[in-house]
Amino acid sequence: MGPREQFCPNIVCPARGKVGEDNIVVHSRKEARYKCNICGKTFVETIGTPYYRLHYSEALMVIVAALIAHGCPLQAIVAAYHLDERTVMDWQGRVGRHCQRVHEHLVEQPQDLTHVQADEIRVKGQGKVIWLAMALMVSTRLWLGGVVAEKRDEHLILALMRTIRKCALAQPLLICVDGFRAYLQAIARAFRSPLPNGKRGRPQLISWPDIHIGQVIKRYQGKRVIDITRRMARGCLQTAQLLLLKSGGGTKLNTAFIERLNATFRSRLAVLVRRSRALIRNPQTLEPLMYLMGSIYNFCTEHKSLRLPGIVGGHKWIARTPAIAAGLIDHIWTIKELLLFRIPPPQWQPPKHRGRHSQTEMPLIARWCS
Ligand SMILES: [Zn+2]
Repeated sequence: MGPREQFCPNIVCPARGKVGEDNIVVHSRKEARYKCNICGKTFVETIGTPYYRLHYSEALMVIVAALIAHGCPLQAIVAAYHLDERTVMDWQGRVGRHCQRVHEHLVEQPQDLTHVQADEIRVKGQGKVIWLAMALMVSTRLWLGGVVAEKRDEHLILALMRTIRKCALAQPLLICVDGFRAYLQAIARAFRSPLPNGKRGRPQLISWPDIHIGQVIKRYQGKRVIDITRRMARGCLQTAQLLLLKSGGGTKLNTAFIERLNATFRSRLAVLVRRSRALIRNPQTLEPLMYLMGSIYNFCTEHKSLRLPGIVGGHKWIARTPAIAAGLIDHIWTIKELLLFRIPPPQWQPPKHRGRHSQTEMPLIARWCS
């Protein structure tokens, strides 16, 4: 047990979320329980992870999560490990929601995206069609998130654009999409910032100036592509070309990178959507599944095109995942590490009240609010 790597999860504790402050001690080795000396509360090692209060071994949950994320039919897992179908569904929800929190904590941070590609996929289930819209940062191949819906409409696209907006800094950005008209308005709505004017009420929203939208429209005859039109729907082609070059995303406007990722998600989801009764009844159960797949892709899966030449005499190549390329983590995570990652609560804030802080509050503020 390593109390130095632990933080207090108690939401009312001034030391919450702080690591290496010597406030955590071992409370019980047998129960793997720690204690915070500031608030006096004890907590188990697994709090805030899908393992919390799990009656099965952690190793089994890791295996099940890996199988689900790679498109193994639910029934196969049930049969192989003698688990109840409801247990597997419950784990899928648990690990998926955990991955979503990890994603929001680590990936949804503003960074210079340079070039993003977005697309929607249609997944056929039993008598139901599900749409999944996703986005990818081209230079690092980082999956930026996705939205699940039963209809391919402007709400789906707007929700996706808001996801990208959370990951973006207000810097020159090229967004490559297909010919769906909803994109233009959704991008215009999502990429705006409030302009403070010192007055009361809602401030005016100003559009980001350097957003360039490239559209790649494919015409099909049967399943074959017979014609591709590439055009700028907003912004200028010269800047778009520079951004393409900077991101290593080819020489022409394209959506090839997101299509590659879509193909992976589609094949894995198609199996799951067809083989599971519970998924079909409620497409919302697909959302945790999408985060599980996306997080394993971002954090745990080596990407061949991201590897770097290694040192002479040592390894020939240094393997990297999209999250390493984006500077979010420093080594390839195992699925166990992903599931064990605890998201620290936000820094403690002193209670708001009128007048000066009291004698008891002052030392707490001095120590924990720096
Ligand atoms: Zn505490």
